Amino acid sequence: MINIKYKRTRQWVLFWMLTAVFLYLGSREENYSDEVFVWIATYIVLYTFYVVFCFFRTIYVWFLSKEDIEYGYSKKFDPKLRAPEIIRRLEDIDIKEKKRQKLERELKIIIKEYKSIVGSRKKLEEERDKELEKQARKTKAFIESIPKKQAQYEHGSISSKIKCPHCHETGKVRRKVEKHIEESREKGVVGAVIGRKTVTDKGNITKFYCENCKTPWTA
Ligand SMILES: [Zn+2]
Repeated sequence: MINIKYKRTRQWVLFWMLTAVFLYLGSREENYSDEVFVWIATYIVLYTFYVVFCFFRTIYVWFLSKEDIEYGYSKKFDPKLRAPEIIRRLEDIDIKEKKRQKLERELKIIIKEYKSIVGSRKKLEEERDKELEKQARKTKAFIESIPKKQAQYEHGSISSKIKCPHCHETGKVRRKVEKHIEESREKGVVGAVIGRKTVTDKGNITKFYCENCKTPWTA
C-alpha cells in the first residue's frame, strides 16, 4: 500500500511520475518544433541527473542504521532509537546551527508524539548521562587493567603458593614457562658479513619474577 505520509514513499512516487513522463516522451514519434525540442531535451538531461541522484540516495539510505532514520521518513523510523541518537548528536558543539535547529525540531515532535515510549527530554538526557558514566567507568577499568595484563604477559600469572627465595614473601611470585632458545652467530666470514644466526632449541625453561622485590630468576 502506498502511504503518502512517509517521505520515502513521496520520493518514490515523484520518481515514478517523472519516469512515466520520460517514457511517454520517448515513445512519441512526432516532429517537434525547435522550441519544444529544447524543452524535451532539457527534461531528459535533468531526468538523467535525477536518476543518478536517486541511485546514490538509495545506496546511502541502505547503509544507514535504524537510529539514523528521521521521523516521518519510512516505516524503519524507531522513536526509541532515534530520540537518544538526536540527544547524542546535539552534544556535538561543532554542529552547524541549521542542523541543530532541525534536530531540535525533530526531537520536539518525537517527544510530543511518542511521549509514552521515549519519555521527556529531561529523562532522555538523564539516560544519556548514565550511559556516559558507564562508558567512562569501563574505560577507566580498562586502563587500570593494562599494567596487570602487561605483567601477566611478561612474567606469567601469580602462583599463590610459591615463596620468594629473596624476600620470602608468599603469593607474589609470577611463573612463566618459556621455550629456551639459544642463538649464536655463525662463525667465519659468512657469520661476520651477513650476521646469520643459528637457533638451538634447548627445551623449556621456567622463569620466576617476584612482584614484591622485583627480582627475576630461573629454574
Ligand atoms: Zn621477592
